Amino acid sequence: MSFAELFGREPHGRWAAPGRVNLIGEHVDYARGLCLPFAIAQRTVVEVATRDDSRVRLASLAEPGGFDGTLDDIGSGSPAGWAGYAAGVLWALRADGHAVGGVDLLVTDTVPLGAGLSSSAALECSTAVAVDELFGLGLDRRVLAAACQRAENDIVGAATGGMDQAASLLAKAGHALLLDTRDGATRQVPFAPADAGLGLLVIDTRVRHRLADGRYGARRASVEKAAAALRLPSLREATLDQVDTLDGELRPRARHVVTEIVRVRETVKLLADGRIDEIGPLLDASHTSLAGDFEVSCAELDLAVSTARGAGALGARLTGGGFGGSAIALVPLAAVDAVASAVRAAFAREDLRSPEIRTAEPSAGAARESLHGPGTAERVDRLQDEIAALPVVDPRSPDGMLGYDEHGLPGPAGRSR
Ligand code: ADP
Ligand code: MG
Repeated sequence: MSFAELFGREPHGRWAAPGRVNLIGEHVDYARGLCLPFAIAQRTVVEVATRDDSRVRLASLAEPGGFDGTLDDIGSGSPAGWAGYAAGVLWALRADGHAVGGVDLLVTDTVPLGAGLSSSAALECSTAVAVDELFGLGLDRRVLAAACQRAENDIVGAATGGMDQAASLLAKAGHALLLDTRDGATRQVPFAPADAGLGLLVIDTRVRHRLADGRYGARRASVEKAAAALRLPSLREATLDQVDTLDGELRPRARHVVTEIVRVRETVKLLADGRIDEIGPLLDASHTSLAGDFEVSCAELDLAVSTARGAGALGARLTGGGFGGSAIALVPLAAVDAVASAVRAAFAREDLRSPEIRTAEPSAGAARESLHGPGTAERVDRLQDEIAALPVVDPRSPDGMLGYDEHGLPGPAGRSR
């Protein structure tokens, strides 16, 4: 089904936004922590045409259902289902006072759904860049990211943090994006596994989770409860000594958050120093913490991680919300096939569905795909300039985001360098 067959006219353009893989910094975005996602090559593509009225028609080649209503019909829980992610972006921009009108929108290509690769943010962000350009809003990408997050929180009702949207909109090829969720500050961190003879495998267990379900919310609630018990604005401000005073399950939950933020800083330092081959133990420690302290792993993720390590991965961990979805493994290029085969064999032995295994290449953020239309090439150039101008981490100069000492946390390996 094409846009023209569905809506009886041609789209005004085509926009694409990538999914993301979080290298490290898991379940810390709602604790005002640091995370380090990168955008992947897989993209969600939307074709969009503006309308002269306030009607909104949404359809997807990836999912049944959709929406045919007006801007005023969009609100909490409405439209239900996947259309809420796209309609929610229109709603959030309008709520901010931007002049957004009706649209016809067809999702023609997609990041794999529910695989922990953030198809939801890819859908929001492709919609956002399309709407921003078509209605001439000219908004900063950080503003668009915030609107996309509110679409997911307020319209879909999934209590996610802002990491996925920042990665999809702000990522630069060959880099990971260090995101400080306390103030939204970002830094580009060199991350090009292939240049170092490494591959980053993404192992989709094909166990599907839904972030909108209760378990993600329960973890988020524990993290907020722990911060409140410590009388802190968030666990970003907590020390390990403070965490040790917490009772019951709040203690391991908070310990994960606090130690994970330290691991992000250590990873950034190593990457900025060109020591990508040394980050494996940090990935392993992140998985141990997520499985043990945060309890968001599952048998399939644990199997993928332990098998990948046994077959030669430098490090491996679950990525994304957990409870299924994907694991990542950093693997010498020469061992990529052996690791993939070993993981497939281990899943077969356990009578599990065969996992989907891909290599992820750090790729660029959302952009217009079709180059037709007046002034498009210049707009694309401008967006690329904007992304290129985003600051890159420099391990030699002081940077608040890498301030190891501010909370008396254990310093990273290589700190004295
Ligand atoms: P993830 O973001 O990890 O893929 P989520 O549960 O957050 O998992 O989001 C997946 C949901 O997003 C899907 O169930 C669907 O509702 C919606 N979605 C994502 N991409 C598309 C698409 N291309 N077409 C329709 N719905 C989509
Ligand atoms: Mg999602």
